[in-house]
Amino acid sequence: MSNKSIFEMILDGEVNSNIIYENEYVFAINDLNPVAKVHILIIPKKKIESINFIEQEDSKILSQMFLTAKLLAKKYEINNSGYRLIVNTNENAGQTVFHIHMHLIGGEKLKNI
Ligand code: AMP
Repeated sequence: MSNKSIFEMILDGEVNSNIIYENEYVFAINDLNPVAKVHILIIPKKKIESINFIEQEDSKILSQMFLTAKLLAKKYEINNSGYRLIVNTNENAGQTVFHIHMHLIGGEKLKNI
């Protein structure tokens, strides 16, 4: 039985999804259940279960996630209007996929948190 995450299956072409951006370290897809007009997931190609498992050696990957958020925010023209970046960790935050991903959310006024 495969223990691949859904995101690894997307990356490997085993689950259909439109990869909207990809580089050596990360890729990005539109969220299946968007909570705003723009809702993109930025995902490291390396499967790391959550922030609880990051190591110093992952620093390049983590910085690439932020740089990709910046790039895609500009591409989808939400860089000036504003956006939110979220990385859920474990149950209380509602993490459902145990492969780190950054939600890039914007395109409309978001509720304050
Ligand atoms: P989280 O709750 O932070 O773990 O977020 C997981 C996100 O992955 C949710 O917002 C889901 O809607 C999204 N998701 C799950 N499966 C897929 C998929 N096949 N394609 C796109 N997004 C997905």
